Amino acid sequence: MTLTAESVWDNCLLFIQDNIAPEAFKTWFQPIKPVKLTDNALHLQVPSRFFYEWLEEHYIDLLKTALTKELGSDAKLIYAIRMENPAKGMEAFTEKIPSSKRNFTDSQNVDAPVKTKSPELKNPFIIPGIRNVQVESQLNPSYNFDSFLEGESNRLARNAGMAVANKPGGTSFNPLLIFGGVGLGKTHLAHAIGVGIKENYPDKTVLYISAERFIQQYTESIRKNTRNDFIHFYQLIDVLIVDDIQFFSGKAGTQDVFFHIFNHLHQNGKQVILTSDKKPVDMQDIEQRLLSRFKWGLSAELNHPDYETRVSIIQNKLYRDGVEMDDNIVHYLAENIKTNIRELEGAIISLIAHSSFNRKDITIDLARKIVENYVKNTKREVSIDQIQKVVSDYFQMDIDTLQSKTRKRHIVQARQLAMYFAKKMTKASLASIGSQIGKRDHATVLHACKTVENLASTDKQFNKYVQDLQKKLAD
Ligand code: ADP
Ligand code: MG
Repeated sequence: MTLTAESVWDNCLLFIQDNIAPEAFKTWFQPIKPVKLTDNALHLQVPSRFFYEWLEEHYIDLLKTALTKELGSDAKLIYAIRMENPAKGMEAFTEKIPSSKRNFTDSQNVDAPVKTKSPELKNPFIIPGIRNVQVESQLNPSYNFDSFLEGESNRLARNAGMAVANKPGGTSFNPLLIFGGVGLGKTHLAHAIGVGIKENYPDKTVLYISAERFIQQYTESIRKNTRNDFIHFYQLIDVLIVDDIQFFSGKAGTQDVFFHIFNHLHQNGKQVILTSDKKPVDMQDIEQRLLSRFKWGLSAELNHPDYETRVSIIQNKLYRDGVEMDDNIVHYLAENIKTNIRELEGAIISLIAHSSFNRKDITIDLARKIVENYVKNTKREVSIDQIQKVVSDYFQMDIDTLQSKTRKRHIVQARQLAMYFAKKMTKASLASIGSQIGKRDHATVLHACKTVENLASTDKQFNKYVQDLQKKLAD
């Protein structure tokens, strides 16, 4: 396949989207247009000079990481700035990006063990056919300890993370399991540990991977009959970071290979870092033998940040962005956005974007408007447990009834609605939804989703259920 500016940029966007707040993505990345690709240089068109400066100042590391992944280490980025008012006769001009300092996200080479049967060990991250086993850490350098502020809510997890970064594999925190709700800093902290290790021990092979991507790679390896290569590849890593392992729920095959990889790494003094949205006892459909291994090390929780921590997170963000804001506005934001840090950051970014685009000062009125808009319009990620609770409350039944094997029509419908909303509002797979809602299989969930869609368009009463539940779940 030949690369085009569009295809390269689309892949970069996928990576960028995974690494920044949705609001920042919408504001700063969606308006960019890929223009052309020449000699490994990607030309991007941005709407204004201000825009270009902002990208350079805040997102250059991220852009560089994304681009290096796509085009290799000699990738270049060239901006075409479209002047706001072309009538003045100004022409778009281009400027070259200086490379950024940190370069440890470049490839790491590992020596494949001589006794491995297959001489070309397959790296699930790269296209087959490449002999050298290179491992890119997949770390985001801007998620480091300096930018991860300490507070009451994260003290244990942060300190344990720092201990691991200073002595990977050499503390009793192995595995280190970080757990906590959405937007509380699990991914950031997991990267920070990896980044810290690369700074302290540049020769160690660190690999960050989301559980979802791990599952995809595993599935692919089954399809291509390379399961052993897949396991061997992961057994070469010195520090393995797996984010959001709750997605392993209900996936027996993945859990099995992970078990082998984990044991090998642990026995060889390698460090494993895991994150999850639940604590081990509450994880569902994870094999007992894996769960018991998760408990070998330390489980550290990230809690909701208290008021002081929220204030310092805002102040730090403003400081890093070089933006001034009155104290009373900072306090107003900290008081009103309590859900999580991602939403807090999103609100600050909207505020800054609004004031810069409209060239207005940041006032308390503007802050009020944004908070109102932001808090109301933000789609919250809900958990499958919450969905089951809302649906069973709505139909005045308990969750056990909702999950039971009965064929009674109103109970079946309630269960199907819960499955439908779980598919719509969470990132969980059909199999995982099925196993959490009454131990059904993925085909049952798929059928439920279709049935709900059909009924909602043909049955007035049923459609009202869907609308009502939708409203309740959005609150
Ligand atoms: P999770 O993975 O738990 O959903 P993230 O790690 O993606 O959460 O964090 C959400 C946002 O909040 C990120 O932009 C992250 O940088 C920021 N954040 C989280 N915790 C902190 C902290 N202690 N200090 C500064 N920023 C934080
Ligand atoms: Mg995360």
